[in-house]
Amino acid sequence: MRSLDVPLEELRAQLRDWIVENAPAGLTELIDWRLRADLPGSVSSLQSESELASAHGHPLFQEWERRCAQARLICPAWPIEYGGRGWDAPQMTMLDEEFYRAGLPRVDRVQGESMVGPSIILHGTDEQKAYYLPRILSGEHRYCQGFSEPGSGSDLASVRTRAVVDGDRLLITGQKVWTSRFTTANMIFVLCRTDPAAKKHRGLSYAITEFTPGRNGIEVRPIRQITGAEEFAEVFFDGTVAPLSGVIGGLGRGWQVVQSTLGFERGGAGRATTMVLQARERELDQLVELARERGRHRDPAVRRELAWAKTQVTIMRSSWQRTVAEVAAGDQPGPQMSTWKLAWSEYHLRLGALALEIAGPAAMVRPAGPGYAVDSWQDTFLVAHSGTIYAGTSEVQRNIIGENLLGLPREPRVPDGQQ
Ligand SMILES: Cc1cc2nc3c(=O)[nH]c(=O)nc-3n(C[C@H](O)[C@H](O)[C@H](O)COP(=O)(O)OP(=O)(O)OC[C@H]3O[C@@H](n4cnc5c(N)ncnc54)[C@H](O)[C@@H]3O)c2cc1C
Repeated sequence: MRSLDVPLEELRAQLRDWIVENAPAGLTELIDWRLRADLPGSVSSLQSESELASAHGHPLFQEWERRCAQARLICPAWPIEYGGRGWDAPQMTMLDEEFYRAGLPRVDRVQGESMVGPSIILHGTDEQKAYYLPRILSGEHRYCQGFSEPGSGSDLASVRTRAVVDGDRLLITGQKVWTSRFTTANMIFVLCRTDPAAKKHRGLSYAITEFTPGRNGIEVRPIRQITGAEEFAEVFFDGTVAPLSGVIGGLGRGWQVVQSTLGFERGGAGRATTMVLQARERELDQLVELARERGRHRDPAVRRELAWAKTQVTIMRSSWQRTVAEVAAGDQPGPQMSTWKLAWSEYHLRLGALALEIAGPAAMVRPAGPGYAVDSWQDTFLVAHSGTIYAGTSEVQRNIIGENLLGLPREPRVPDGQQ
């Protein structure tokens, strides 16, 4: 592709040509790449981690990865000096739309690309940028997120995992939970308390270390979910060594970095939101199809709910387009990302229930098969619940909307040291 600093529609035309010339024949048939489109956070049990891993290990995917890297289509939202294209939200939206349309995977560095990488770009030293960013870009470093703990999820500043400085390293001891992508990750970013005497939000550090289950004091216990998938795990640290040089933002200054990471996670970078939207639109079309198949499309109650769903998806698309336009005009996505997160996750919860209602009594029975099988609508219904929890629960989003967008009184807080 030539220089892409061109109007969006011209860029789209260039990208379509590039896809035609570069997508290896047969790649789209390897696996349904769209099924996992609404990553991150998707925990579909319909495609096992091993199916996905084997598709990623296939020579066709590897060839695609090589061509995308050559065209700088990996981490394209990163600034040009760090190997990206500096693409903004409209350009990233366009990229996701075109790959989705073609049924092709975006070579995605997942949490490295969308969370820890941008946080390093914002808060890291030159040395940290030079060491970590190229390794994310190449796929050598694959991250998981060690923030949540038992008792510290919404209230992240209360984390108890401790880290003590020992020369040029940190020794980390404690427990994390709900750690997604533990099967594919070889790196972890850990929120830990390095100064227990400091006030709650102070004294926290954002450490990066290798993720080596069974070694370096790291123990991993997978958690089986209601869908049957094992997408996340408990992670235990016992004197785990992390380099001091990998503390982003400086010792005791982890909270600022966490805020940036969470902002990126909720969709500030545009990636997740575009994909969520496309996945929701596709899913609704399939549900309308199911209603027809089951003869439920004439039922007024079902028609009313489907019309509601169509309206919601249309509103979500308009509201996302507005956000994209605001970002293009130079605004930073702020608390309004909470309205987006709340809208799609609560919508999905109701849609999952509607799907089972349309599927009828058969939806109560698991399909035959090994393990803990579910069909696609059972999966939708069950997975939808997790969307209202990860990246900040619905209640927390409502607090943010109330306090930061509507200017309502702040919720009472327990003073530091009195919990
Ligand atoms: C699919 C999935 C993947 C995840 N992946 C990761 C991961 O990779 N890494 C990671 O670190 N974490 C991960 N998480 C954890 C996730 O971030 C937490 O579950 C989430 O922040 C909520 O924390 P909690 O589970 O401790 O619930 P709690 O914070 O204990 O909340 C319990 C209930 O209290 C409510 N509540 C809490 N505080 C308030 C408040 N101030 N006002 C009103 N209501 C409140 C909550 O809404 C919720 O209903 C994942 C979670 C899920 C579901």
